[in-house]
Amino acid sequence: MTRIIDGNAIASDIEADVQASVETLRDAGVQPGLATVLMSDDGASETYVSMKQQACDDLGIDGRHHEIDADAPADDLFDRIDDLNADESVHGILVQMPVPDHVEKRAVLERIDPEKDVDGFHPENVGRLVAGNARYKPCTPHGVQKILAAEGIETEGKEAVVVGRSDIVGKPMANLFIQYGDGGNATTTVCHSRTDDLAAKTREADILVAAAGVPEMIDGEMVKEGATVIDVGINRVDADTEKGYELVGDVDFESAKAKAGAITPVPGGVGPLTIAMLLYNTVKAASRQSGVGVDLA
Ligand code: NAD
Repeated sequence: MTRIIDGNAIASDIEADVQASVETLRDAGVQPGLATVLMSDDGASETYVSMKQQACDDLGIDGRHHEIDADAPADDLFDRIDDLNADESVHGILVQMPVPDHVEKRAVLERIDPEKDVDGFHPENVGRLVAGNARYKPCTPHGVQKILAAEGIETEGKEAVVVGRSDIVGKPMANLFIQYGDGGNATTTVCHSRTDDLAAKTREADILVAAAGVPEMIDGEMVKEGATVIDVGINRVDADTEKGYELVGDVDFESAKAKAGAITPVPGGVGPLTIAMLLYNTVKAASRQSGVGVDLA
């Protein structure tokens, strides 16, 4: 029987730990705060930010949302980041990507104080992750690690194949898999849009992480019998629904399920973990900045 992994349940357990840490901090007079900044009219980005804000509310984190007109000069965003860097009540800063074309993404990531970079995208934090001394692990790949741990799926000595090499999912996922220690020690292959014979690579995977942003591109033919399939993809495809679309992953769920030992659905798989790990990083940031210790696994 293929196990369908319940990402909501795993995220709830992590959020309970985060909430306990929020209370520890509050008891010590520290109110954890997360600033989200949106410079976009994109509907999906608006949805993601509002979900993050809602999650802050639910756990007692002070979530403050900032919007900057998508046509505004880049300096408006940079000035806002500078203000948030200087604001001691803000422990974490998240600028929702993508930013408009006239704003240089790299400059945005570098502008955020690395201590407040709860996405873990600042080059200093990327470097620390690669060096095996992560400050904040990027939320989505960290969430995948948490799923594997919660499901008792060993990574050590296993073949892990990551499809996608983005800075936010594919690269940090691979970097986590190759680190020493729990959730690491995997023999890791990174595939991408220029990979030759992708199916031959994915069929080698004991753990297959799909993060390509291509609807249902990984089907059962590409999955090894008994493999763990983690579908990071969230793609809007046209559908005859109220909203006019539905969400599908990068994995063709039914055919992959027929081969896999365990598989994450979309929605309800990796997505909830991404939010949980953002809250986790925010509490960690508040702890680091205040010096008040918290008990976070
Ligand atoms: P991206 O577009 O930045 O990167 C996609 C990567 O996939 C690229 O490295 C590209 O080389 C590779 N790729 C594209 N087409 C391919 C193909 N045909 N074969 C092999 N590789 C191919 O995307 P991203 O930001 O990494 O996001 C990937 C997917 O994950 C998207 O669907 C996104 O919405 C989703 N996502 C989900 C979460 C979550 O919380 N579940 C978080 C972030 C991203």
